[in-house]
Amino acid sequence: MSLARRTDGSGHVNATASQEWERVLGRVKDELGEAVYRSWFAMLRCESIGEGEAVVAAPTRFLRNWIETHYGDRLLKLWRAENPSVRRMSILLDASIGGLQGIGAEPANSTDEAEQAPLVPAEPANSDEKGLFSAPLDPRFTFDNFVVGKPNELAHAAARRVAESCAAPSRAVPFNPLFLYGGVGLGKTHLMHAIAWQVRVQAPERRVIYLSAEKFMYQFVRALRFKSTMDFKEQFRSVDLLMIDDVQFIAGKDSTQEELFHTFNALVDQNRQIVFSADKSPSDLEGLEERMRSRLGWGLVADVHPTTYELRLGIMQSKAEQAGIEVPPKVMEFLAHKIASNVRELEGALNRIAAHAQLVGRDITLESTQELLHDLLRSNERRVTIDEIQKCVAEHFNIKMAEMTSARRARAVARPRQVAMYLAKQLTSRSLPEIGRKFGGRDHTTVMHAVKKIEELTASDRALGEDVELLRRMLQR
Ligand code: ADP
Ligand code: MG
Repeated sequence: MSLARRTDGSGHVNATASQEWERVLGRVKDELGEAVYRSWFAMLRCESIGEGEAVVAAPTRFLRNWIETHYGDRLLKLWRAENPSVRRMSILLDASIGGLQGIGAEPANSTDEAEQAPLVPAEPANSDEKGLFSAPLDPRFTFDNFVVGKPNELAHAAARRVAESCAAPSRAVPFNPLFLYGGVGLGKTHLMHAIAWQVRVQAPERRVIYLSAEKFMYQFVRALRFKSTMDFKEQFRSVDLLMIDDVQFIAGKDSTQEELFHTFNALVDQNRQIVFSADKSPSDLEGLEERMRSRLGWGLVADVHPTTYELRLGIMQSKAEQAGIEVPPKVMEFLAHKIASNVRELEGALNRIAAHAQLVGRDITLESTQELLHDLLRSNERRVTIDEIQKCVAEHFNIKMAEMTSARRARAVARPRQVAMYLAKQLTSRSLPEIGRKFGGRDHTTVMHAVKKIEELTASDRALGEDVELLRRMLQR
């Protein structure tokens, strides 16, 4: 089979190629471990496979360089084990790959909240001595530090209610389970830790277990291996409050799901409180057994909505205050306006400008913020279309729009066309084949070449560099 055919005309990496990439990632996990995989590889995307070359995209320059220098050879080797015809591998920059905190400056942290760079020095996280299996709680994740707004008011009220009931002598169970769901970085984990903290303070005798679904599975598998399933069951079935974070993780993991189902039933029977979180509602979670799905929807299902500008501004103010950082209101408004994706990114931005201000000993200003965070801001910018780019570039260089798709190779039209391809790669989330198609059905390697060429030229040719900068700014307004 010809490798070139692995990317289809629509520009999506086709099923075969993406399955291949999945298998490569599987090898990465096996060989380098889950933690390394999550820190460095989970954010990569397979761009294309063709003509002996595999192209991968990374969301930040930092990540790209890191992978290249630390894992480049390894990754190629693993890839070749999967597909021997791959001889080279290259890594492109694609800022549009989403969901990353602190884009650009720091390593791409895994999604584990505990590994986030703290705004305030965190106390050493202590684990619950009574719940052997419980994960450490983040000292910053309390109700006091949680900013309530329209998008999260239901989830917050429900979490408060659960904490109060669980700590009360009567130990009532208001709704079982409480199921919190919503996108990444919207405060689900924060709320669960807050419940645990409150119960720990108000009713220290209560047995509380908080852990991720992943850890639940790990403990379960371990118990199986060491033939200690009785201990395992006992631990989990004797708690007052069980909280399992990110249960979407166990979708499709049948025996773990089964075990969780039985644990769940045992606890409900004893009238013990359960809290789950997930990225989707029970009805939208795929790979769940039907009985599990219906059980999850028994209690209260509370949705954490994406943040609003007001909520983001409130969170910014609260975090800056907590950390004792002076941030001009203009800067906060600017960030709350620009970084709309998730709170974790907003926090990352605040950390970065604070660290920078401390380091250089200068006040935080709007200008320094814009400069420092420009990569992060760009990835949050409004999306431009390829048509807009072509039109704008054609106008700028005074050529006809039709030249963007024509076969003419005269420099006077070829160069602007390359600039447009470069900008399309930089400013949109389109893949190389998709961009090629928009430029009169050109091959993805032509686009790749254009991107490299313009990267080189803008470094050496000042006039062109300015043109490209100007166009970029115009397109992003
Ligand atoms: P999720 O579990 O939903 O992915 P987290 O609970 O880990 O999100 O939240 C990500 C970061 O954002 C955390 O540092 C958390 O403290 C912060 N955060 C999210 N929502 C709020 C909020 N309403 N008030 C204060 N901090 C928040
Ligand atoms: Mg979480």
